[in-house]
Amino acid sequence: MEITEIPVEGYERVVRAKDPASGLHALISVHDTTLGPALGGMRMWPYASEDDALTDVLRLSKGMTYKSAVAQTGLGGGKSVIIGNPKQIKSEALFLAMGRFVESLGGKYITAEDVNIGIPDLEICRRATSHVTGLSREDGGSGNPSPYTAYGVFLGVRAACGWRFGSDDLEGRTVAVQGVGAVGGALVERLVRAGAKVTIADIHEEKVQAMVDQLGVTACSLDDILGVECDVFAPCALGAVIRDESIDKLRCQIIAGAANNVLHEGRHGAELAKRGVLYAPDYVINAGGIINVSVEFREGGYDQDAALQKIERIPQALKEVWTLSDQDGVSPNVAADRLAEQILDEARRAKA
Ligand code: NAD
Repeated sequence: MEITEIPVEGYERVVRAKDPASGLHALISVHDTTLGPALGGMRMWPYASEDDALTDVLRLSKGMTYKSAVAQTGLGGGKSVIIGNPKQIKSEALFLAMGRFVESLGGKYITAEDVNIGIPDLEICRRATSHVTGLSREDGGSGNPSPYTAYGVFLGVRAACGWRFGSDDLEGRTVAVQGVGAVGGALVERLVRAGAKVTIADIHEEKVQAMVDQLGVTACSLDDILGVECDVFAPCALGAVIRDESIDKLRCQIIAGAANNVLHEGRHGAELAKRGVLYAPDYVINAGGIINVSVEFREGGYDQDAALQKIERIPQALKEVWTLSDQDGVSPNVAADRLAEQILDEARRAKA
């Protein structure tokens, strides 16, 4: 396997692996390890070019640094991407080679699941490296992160209501949830139990119908969910839902959901603020999963109570972001980045 360094300013290490024997062509980006080893998922995608893959891995690894900093996971940020079509190139040899690639960074980068990568793939990698997280509980891992992400988002929705309406009681609050998959579905259950009136939409009609029957929620069409008149809109499906074409449809007071990259562009944060919509920045509110994984690194290994306690800090992190947003007169997404940078600067100064 040929491993080459790609110098990128502002990144600790970016490396490329090419292994003709297994067909592996992959990149790992270690953005920043000031706060700890760089944790971030492994993604497989049929990128059109290595440049596209590089852009993605750089953006994602920096995002992980910021997310972990604000969530106080004690971890840095990294990410890896395997270039190729998952339907065509997955093989035992490929994931063993990827494991060797991860191992070559000596623990500076720790991998986990991401788009098109499942636990079976990671289990193969783990035969070549110990720097793999998020495996099943039976394997000593922290297991499926989604219920923990959902718990954090639920607490974040409450915190946002507290900030906006002066009470975090969800009884009678109206919430529109876009996407009722692993995270959205668990969120809806919690919202209903807390007394909220919930409207949902999802591509999977059977899933929607089952929730309507079992939980008494209301269903609406995929097109209409954004425009539901409600207290909270919770995007739990796709990224970039808040964009020029959609923003004027919103009839909510708050946006607080699980989806990554909710804002199509950073400026949409300011557009939301202009319209009086309170935004809970995605990587702050959806950190429950990474917090759960990070607990694998505490002395004594994974412990669910420790994970829950750390997730219960998400409302505090959101309040810090909104306070900074008010103080600095910037939108919450900008304030979240500033908070992350402050935390990193302080840690760098303390280390120097
Ligand atoms: P998932 O695939 O289990 O669920 C997504 C759901 O959205 C599916 O049911 C899908 O049918 C639905 N969907 C897709 N397009 C839709 C559309 N146009 N309108 C309505 N519904 C649509 O994924 P998940 O694990 O629940 O993650 C949801 C979001 O949260 C993703 O953006 C993910 O990146 C983010 N996230 C997840 C976690 C986690 O722990 N799983 C952590 C952080 C962030």
